[in-house]
Amino acid sequence: MTDKNSLMRQLPKVDEIIRCMIIERAVKAPEVLIKLAVKKEIDSEREKIVTGESTGCTRDVLLDRIEDEIKRQNQPHLKRVINATGIVLHTNLGRAKLAQEVSDQMKEIGGYYSNLEYDLEAGERGSRYAHVEQLLTFLTGAEAALVVNNNAAAVFLILNSLVREKEVIVSRGELVEIGGSFRVPEIMKASGCTLVEVGTTNKTHESDYVNGISEHTGALLKVHTSNYKIIGFTKEVSIEGLKAIGARHQLPVIYDMGSGLMMDLKAHGIGEEPTVKQCLFDGADVVCFSGDKLLGGPQAGIIVGSKEYIGKMKKNHLLRALRIDKLTLTALELTLREYLDEEKAMKTIPTLHMIMEPLERLEEKARLFLKLLNPCQEAEYEVVKTQSQIGGGSMPGVCLDSYAVSVYRTEISEGMLERMLRENSIPIVTRIYKNKVLFDVRTMSEEDIQTAADFLNQL
Ligand SMILES: *Cc1c(COP(=O)(O)O)cnc(C)c1O
Repeated sequence: MTDKNSLMRQLPKVDEIIRCMIIERAVKAPEVLIKLAVKKEIDSEREKIVTGESTGCTRDVLLDRIEDEIKRQNQPHLKRVINATGIVLHTNLGRAKLAQEVSDQMKEIGGYYSNLEYDLEAGERGSRYAHVEQLLTFLTGAEAALVVNNNAAAVFLILNSLVREKEVIVSRGELVEIGGSFRVPEIMKASGCTLVEVGTTNKTHESDYVNGISEHTGALLKVHTSNYKIIGFTKEVSIEGLKAIGARHQLPVIYDMGSGLMMDLKAHGIGEEPTVKQCLFDGADVVCFSGDKLLGGPQAGIIVGSKEYIGKMKKNHLLRALRIDKLTLTALELTLREYLDEEKAMKTIPTLHMIMEPLERLEEKARLFLKLLNPCQEAEYEVVKTQSQIGGGSMPGVCLDSYAVSVYRTEISEGMLERMLRENSIPIVTRIYKNKVLFDVRTMSEEDIQTAADFLNQL
């Protein structure tokens, strides 16, 4: 019997493997990465010997494993993936997919100097916010606008600038948590104000807000319930209702919209969300929303509202810590520019395009995918009806009918196949339904479909 100690002794020496990788195998990678990979694989083999999981492996097998690991380590960790889940705004997959022209322009700005904070007309220092403020005011009808790192930062900046050390009234039905790290009560505390909860989970009336007001009150806050819906016996106070109360007590109405809808999707039969413009028109003094949800742009927090309030935010020293960077700003400006022509925006902004894609077109796409697949004995390929989601904490309860290609392989389990797809050079993220792997074509481009088909054909 080979005992564990002798198995350990048979493992090649670290220095020797490193030399072998560089000289014999001519692996091209920085030496630190080679060392790291060698150490990792040797340690893991040692561990397996200790637990009895390994009874030794040949030198070549070990060297192959190490070479694979070096190659993995030598690639960027953050990479493009194919989203075959049908979830349009998939937070784990980077939320909104940017328009082609937008990502092209980011290369230009990133690779050269720019007028980020330079006023080319005056030849002097300018503001980074100037590139989007006018566009935002024009598109939403607001007096002023400001952009920060994300919507969580926007809420923080608004509260910290306008109502620090004061009380803010929020309905109990709107104390939301988004993705585990954004929680209304916590962000309130961090921004230095006190939360005053009013009403109940399902019903909050005008009188609840009025009764919650004291000499310490600084604002009325409304929060969009982005990722859940309270249905049944419910009542919430509209922005108009809040504005009437706010006006009587000279309190600003702040609305955290979550997803900033620029275009009226309700008019296209999708959801019931109001647009940013509508919320401002209804009387919200300050509205904030994400850049990478329904807007379909980069991660950003957008704040629009009255000049007086936005002015206070611009003067807050913390703005510096929350500021947006030049690549994001480029993507945001160009995305907003698309909205100047709504018809065009529906085609060029992938998020809108994918949400609005007609069912017939999706079926056609799924059939096209099926045609690319070579029939084989081990595989069952089928076009099936499915439902996609908008996702990203937008429009809860809205399901979009869609089409998918379902894959069943006799020799590979669905779990195994799903994993193999994830490990592809361009990872493909799918969904498992029953014992099949589903590729929802809503979130796949024609190029993505080709890549997926090539993968399945070479199995
Ligand atoms: C998504 C969301 C946030 C957080 O926005 P991020 O841009 O992810 O920081 C805050 N509030 C509401 C209501 C949301 O839906």
